[in-house]
Amino acid sequence: MKATGFTTDIVHSDQHFGVEHGGIHKPIHTSVQYGFERVEDLVGVFQGTTKGGFNYARQGTPTTAALESKITRMEQGVGTICFATGMAAITAVFLTLLRTGDHVVASRFVFGNTNSFFGTLADLGITITLVDATASDKVAAALRPNTRLVFVETIANPGTQIADLSGIGALCKERGVLFVVDNTITSPLLFRPKTVDAGLVINSLTKTIAGHGNALGGAVTDTGCHDWQAYPNIFESYRKGDTRQWGLTQIRKKGLRDMGAALSSEHAHQISVGSETLALRVAQSSATALELARFLEAHPAITRVYYPMLASHPQHAVARQHFSAGSWLLSFELRDASECFAFINRLQLPVKATGLGDTRSLIIPVAHTIFWEAGAQARAAMGIADGLIRFSVGLEDSADLLADFAQALG
Ligand SMILES: *Cc1c(COP(=O)(O)O)cnc(C)c1O
Repeated sequence: MKATGFTTDIVHSDQHFGVEHGGIHKPIHTSVQYGFERVEDLVGVFQGTTKGGFNYARQGTPTTAALESKITRMEQGVGTICFATGMAAITAVFLTLLRTGDHVVASRFVFGNTNSFFGTLADLGITITLVDATASDKVAAALRPNTRLVFVETIANPGTQIADLSGIGALCKERGVLFVVDNTITSPLLFRPKTVDAGLVINSLTKTIAGHGNALGGAVTDTGCHDWQAYPNIFESYRKGDTRQWGLTQIRKKGLRDMGAALSSEHAHQISVGSETLALRVAQSSATALELARFLEAHPAITRVYYPMLASHPQHAVARQHFSAGSWLLSFELRDASECFAFINRLQLPVKATGLGDTRSLIIPVAHTIFWEAGAQARAAMGIADGLIRFSVGLEDSADLLADFAQALG
């Protein structure tokens, strides 16, 4: 029987990947070295002719490979590489696929550390044009002959701007430009970037996929949509075999083997177990998020609520078209920004903490923390007001969260 449901597929995924001793979970392989009976097999692993072989854990273990296979299934791609963190996955993609003199078009609304990393790329001679990616014509206007890739997030954190996913996907396809989508906030449950012709998908596994705030991880998935034969920066030695694997081979060799931010088997196991309840968790936290967003929008002490499934959201139609729910991320602005800290302190349930996608709700004033280093000018350009509060909705019962917000707002 071929399983088609998202969760059915995840919970049985390890059975498609070499069951060992009947173990229902893929075991945690802690071996760094992998030995062989015949030297020919060792040579085969190095030369890529022994399929599914391992040689050194920095390039992967049976446990990380099982997780990679699970994420490939979630994204319906052709392959995945896991990394120690989401940032390691992002930096590996940019550093292995770009050269000095290349150009990138990226959304102005991206994760703060990604934005900071763009500064490092600029120092390396890679030009980045930041655009308002909610409109594909802004992306089109920024493309140059040497543009190698376009990078967006699905729902941006913290402002919840939604990229013009189908417009940019169609544009990149027409121009033959690689389209890279950070799917962290939506996760493959709510949205598959493959449906808009993205070539590479990045997920920070730390958030929704692991889901419990107890393991860091990142992944890059190739959807099979991009033609690597036309991509100029693939080294000659990786232009071999299945053309759909060329990009991932280069990212694995240069980005994982050489740069070394490998995911541990222990964390791969935790992420894998966490992912089994992804659909249940995201359904509940998205439903609570929508309830809270409606409550806050109606409250006189709140001036703005940013949540994709509110009719007032500027890209509400795009959200309805592409996402099966609005996710667990919402932001809002207090009418009186000077009340921000006092209000957060009055809340009893949400943990005052950075981070996203935990089982517990997490709350943070944005301008004073994650966007502090960026400075006032950059914050203004990104639409981050001083009274902006980010809320990552956890699995608490929605009535408890609503009651807590009601008492804290007075
Ligand atoms: C958290 C996050 C990252 C980075 O992931 P880490 O696992 O924390 O390194 C990248 N992109 C987005 C959208 C994120 O929310």
